[in-house]
Amino acid sequence: VQTKLVHAGDAAIEEAARIIKNGGLVAFPTETVYGLGANGLDFKAVEGIFKAKGRPSNNPLIEHISHMDMLQLLTEHVPEEAKVLAEKFWPGPLSIIMPKEKHVPANVTAGLNTVAIRMPDDAVALSLIEKCGVPIAAPSANASGKPSPTDAAAVMQDMSGRIDMILDGVRCSVGVESTVLDLCLETPCILRPGGITAEMLRETLGKVDIHPAALARIDKTQARSPGMLHRHYAPNARMIVLSGEEENVAKEMIRRYDQSINEGLRTRIICTAQCAVRLQGRPACVLGSSERPETMAATLFAELRQADADDIQLILAQAVPVQNIGLAVMNRMLRAAEFNIVEV
Ligand code: AMP
Ligand code: MG
Repeated sequence: VQTKLVHAGDAAIEEAARIIKNGGLVAFPTETVYGLGANGLDFKAVEGIFKAKGRPSNNPLIEHISHMDMLQLLTEHVPEEAKVLAEKFWPGPLSIIMPKEKHVPANVTAGLNTVAIRMPDDAVALSLIEKCGVPIAAPSANASGKPSPTDAAAVMQDMSGRIDMILDGVRCSVGVESTVLDLCLETPCILRPGGITAEMLRETLGKVDIHPAALARIDKTQARSPGMLHRHYAPNARMIVLSGEEENVAKEMIRRYDQSINEGLRTRIICTAQCAVRLQGRPACVLGSSERPETMAATLFAELRQADADDIQLILAQAVPVQNIGLAVMNRMLRAAEFNIVEV
């Protein structure tokens, strides 16, 4: 197919809604990353998402809604905590796992009896869902395993020729995928950290667990969905995360960078502004100030994709403290690096 890239004005959103109602695929902006959407109640349409992304069928999708009435199409029972969280954090970057209604197609949930649901905080996304009149099932609009797209051009790189349309909207403000919160356990558990932080959720719910997958490799017995086991966010380059006091990290970066360049490898440093000024002239891609970890979240995926575009062979990345949204940034970094972390 020919993939149309269109500015996300009203007429384009109308057309996108028609495509989705007819079983087609449309990528659209959200505040987290660009999503690849299909009618979330149509098994065949959802099949197209897995095909376009090359996504393993055992990795479930998130259903996106535009108002609370849509919940009843997706879940038999809205847990009390979900109502409180929705009131507080929707629309926003929080996906909540609830018991699934039987009409939700089995491929959306990868055969699980639970479903992940969220209301995105983006005017184009909400308008598109509203015009479709059905929930939109949407994973990130990248080829499976690649860093997620935070602008329409990145979607085009991965999805050109594979989907019907891309709605070109603003650059994603959060920049990492939504927090995934499992409410179908004794204690609510963050399966994937994101823009709604553990600190924020604990303020509302009290006790909230963080799944070990947030910062470590896990095995089959620990996974709440097989999707948690797949390779993710990976650039083509080998990537090493350096963790420790900034002064030491900077020294080690200089050492490794010089060595790598001497070996003839195209090498890139990704770090905070504070670290970059300690590199004694070596070039660095600055994710943001260490005082504003949200800017680091907003730029990480674009920098990983840029490294691919520049044919980089080795990425040296500075670890970030795992407080607040830093946990989400570190989660993505560690996966991108396949847990290749060095303490200095
Ligand atoms: P993506 O759409 O790329 O943001 O990925 C969706 C994420 O939600 C994956 O990490 C899935 O493992 C997770 N997810 C979706 N539905 C469920 C579910 N029912 N149980 C556990 N995790 C889920
Ligand atoms: Mg994804």
